[in-house]
Amino acid sequence: MKVLIAGGSGFIGSHLCDYFLGKGDEVVCVDSLITGSKKNIEHLKDNQKFKFIKHDISEPLDLEIDAVLHFASPASPVYYLKYPFDTLKAGSYATHNLLDLAKKNNALFLLASTSEVYGDPLEHPQNESYWGNVSSTGPRSVYDEAKRYAEAVTMAYHNYHGLKTRIVRIFNTYGERMMPDDGRAMPNFINQALKHQDITVYGDGSQTRSFCYVSDLVRGIYQLLISDESMPVNLGNPNEMTLKDLAFYIKDIVGSEGKFVYQDLPEDDPKLRCPNITRAQNILDWTPVVGIEAGLKKTIDYFKYL
Ligand code: UDP
Repeated sequence: MKVLIAGGSGFIGSHLCDYFLGKGDEVVCVDSLITGSKKNIEHLKDNQKFKFIKHDISEPLDLEIDAVLHFASPASPVYYLKYPFDTLKAGSYATHNLLDLAKKNNALFLLASTSEVYGDPLEHPQNESYWGNVSSTGPRSVYDEAKRYAEAVTMAYHNYHGLKTRIVRIFNTYGERMMPDDGRAMPNFINQALKHQDITVYGDGSQTRSFCYVSDLVRGIYQLLISDESMPVNLGNPNEMTLKDLAFYIKDIVGSEGKFVYQDLPEDDPKLRCPNITRAQNILDWTPVVGIEAGLKKTIDYFKYL
């Protein structure tokens, strides 16, 4: 296969480039480098089957391709607030452009959607049939509504044009190549712990998330791409924990002397998040296998030598 990975020099995108190249496929990585980094794909530059194109996919692009994966968007709360219009365009114009390209080539199309489509959920854990509790005007709306719109356009191409489409709803994912300054809990806590600085817990730290190690996620995305499933599928690790617990784990593994400091909880910050992954288990025969301790150790090692 010749695979286009839009957002291929971002955190998850770059791991997808490695995965497809490892399977013997050709990869075209397209990235505007607004939040992606060339460092994430540096090791691929001499690979004959790899090509990088610097391009903002909210502008059309013409290529011959067998599969299109849309991972192009700012994705951390700090960055989508910094780049609201790029985020909205990534969900709208970019999704249209990539769907058009897939249609022209009769290619497979996979959309990276998000657990943010469930907003601050009133159903817990979240399964794919839940419609969400999302603000269309709040600070997170530029990302949440862009992704919800992207899902709608993807389904329309599937229903009206018969395009083979896939939608993955990605829950919190961590691992090597996360941006150290993207403001998310994982890089913040790890950097603070490594420097023996205070660890910034927002709110009282009782809000929950469920963290999936990146290799598990990437394997699930591939299984979804090659499946026949056009309805959204959650991928994430259902091992739910409070943010305070995550901070404790990281502090403990690093041996940090920093103490916890409590700061204001950002507006509309979801109180609970945990995927129901029954559909992924049944349809894709997928389940995450990397535990939090093993994943954290690898991630901390990566941040140590940045
Ligand atoms: N958070 C925190 N301290 C930080 C950064 C984030 O306590 O330094 C909290 C944040 O308020 C949220 C959770 O950690 O409740 C996860 O936030 P993140 O930005 O990683 O992603 P989100 O899951 O909200 O998209």
